[in-house]
Amino acid sequence: MTEIDPLPLSRLTTLQTGAAPTSMAEARTRDELVEALRSIWAAGDEWFVIGGGSNLLVGDEPFDGTVVRMLTRGIERVGGGPEGTVRLRVQAGHDWDELVAYTVAEGLSGIAAMSGIPGTVGAAPVQNVGAYGQDISETLVEVELIDEATGEISVVPAADLELGFRTSVLKHHYGSVPARRAVILSVTLQLVEVGHGEFPIRGEQLRQALGLAPGATVTLAWVRDHVLATRRRKGMVLDATDADTASAGSFFQNAIVSERFARTLPDACPRWPMQAVIEPMRIIPLDSFDGYVPPAVDQPVQVKVSAAWLIEHAGIGKGFHLPRSRAAVSSKHALALTNRGGARAEELAELARFIQQRVQQEFGLILQPEPVLVGVEL
Ligand SMILES: Cc1cc2nc3c(=O)[nH]c(=O)nc-3n(C[C@H](O)[C@H](O)[C@H](O)COP(=O)(O)OP(=O)(O)OC[C@H]3O[C@@H](n4cnc5c(N)ncnc54)[C@H](O)[C@@H]3O)c2cc1C
Repeated sequence: MTEIDPLPLSRLTTLQTGAAPTSMAEARTRDELVEALRSIWAAGDEWFVIGGGSNLLVGDEPFDGTVVRMLTRGIERVGGGPEGTVRLRVQAGHDWDELVAYTVAEGLSGIAAMSGIPGTVGAAPVQNVGAYGQDISETLVEVELIDEATGEISVVPAADLELGFRTSVLKHHYGSVPARRAVILSVTLQLVEVGHGEFPIRGEQLRQALGLAPGATVTLAWVRDHVLATRRRKGMVLDATDADTASAGSFFQNAIVSERFARTLPDACPRWPMQAVIEPMRIIPLDSFDGYVPPAVDQPVQVKVSAAWLIEHAGIGKGFHLPRSRAAVSSKHALALTNRGGARAEELAELARFIQQRVQQEFGLILQPEPVLVGVEL
């Protein structure tokens, strides 16, 4: 295992908080990564892996365990997809946006709308990253995983990761442990060969964000450029010269509520119906069929509501901060909490709690944080 002098996590996370942990290792190859994880697990130490640190809020007290830096890199073409598609296997530590740029340069469609999302490829399936209606579940074929419970490596199809809205079995949601404690070693994506010519853009949300009419055709490079420009205006790309980008992107998730609860919210609050949950098919063997057809179970319809709207209408505007605090709501985006320079994790947590309380008082629901919290409580 390549142990290194522990760096302060404030230097490795985009929210810029956290002291140096007790120990730190870095893995530049897949073998180094596997070896480092197996030796930490054999010793029974506390641990977590860190990629770009762009979805982490780390507490002010030093983490008592080992932090493993994911520095593996590499993109390779692998076979297996249907005609007109290309499969790429990418090492977990590879920069996500570099991968997107590569696919655009190669004329491969499927992830261009996710241009500019910071972080690593291996972390992308962890919360099923997405933007403008596109997410990685649409192109993910499989991941290569190492499980803490067994130390074994396996290839896991995307369907087994339970990818949902900013979630998967691997995500450490606030207040819970992941269903599967494992580290992604590599990710395989299947992309469509569209070349460098114009093609029609699928997805209403993406078309709206790009100001395109249905049926309009554009090139992949055009999509990437326009997505990056749109994200930059919202402080949603990393930029050392823009204080609004010292964030973890959206700090709160859009809330998923029942349709009945959504009806109690003001009409103006933006909402999107979630895909209906279809009842699994029940097969009744013909010889045991007695003529009785069981009634369909009424599945509750869920609705996604805009957390940004709820925050702003609870009286917390862009740029808001508590007195004397160095943590503030982004001046460009109500969902992003930012470190205005030297803020401790506790200052960010205090702001997050204040927002949760205001939204709960006004609208009766508790917003859930999107980043993974380590050593911090809300
Ligand atoms: C400005 C900005 C904009 C953003 N915009 C978006 C957006 O549009 N959409 C979106 O979905 N997200 C967005 N994010 C959040 C973030 O970029 C993504 O969640 C990204 O995938 C995190 O990658 P990372 O490498 O930085 O993960 P880290 O922050 O390093 O880690 C996040 C979690 O994943 C775990 N992890 C990391 N690598 C692995 C691995 N290989 N195997 C298993 N677990 C792993 C870590 O232990 C941790 O629990 C944004 C963040 C910022 C700062």
